[in-house]
Amino acid sequence: MLEVSGFNFTFDETKCLECGGKCCIGESGYIFVTLNEIRQIAEFMQMDFESFCLKFIKKVGYKYSLIEKKMQNGIGYACIFFDEETKQCKIYQKRPNQCIKFPFWEDYREDFNVLLKECIGVVKK
Ligand code: SF4
Repeated sequence: MLEVSGFNFTFDETKCLECGGKCCIGESGYIFVTLNEIRQIAEFMQMDFESFCLKFIKKVGYKYSLIEKKMQNGIGYACIFFDEETKQCKIYQKRPNQCIKFPFWEDYREDFNVLLKECIGVVKK
């Protein structure tokens, strides 16, 4: 069980195996990435930085986000790197910090019930 100081829930990572990637799909949103993370993912994918950005990155104000795609089943969106067949992240080893920190996001600090709809691995303390 993972715990982070200041959050009133714990997280069991083993539940990710049976979840099907709910945190990578759903409503349209942003998966923010730093320039350093973009560089690392591009390298992981054996792409040059510019080609990678043109294909997978969108600018959001002064930030950058991975793009998303429409789900094959027509219901909602998925991160461009979510594999709908295997239900796995294609860049898991280099996934952005935003993904690594899930479900310990500020938005969920006070809103456990919203998180519970998205993640079967959390338990209120
Ligand atoms: S980068 Fe990977 S873990 Fe993060 S939202 Fe996309 S598919 Fe999910």
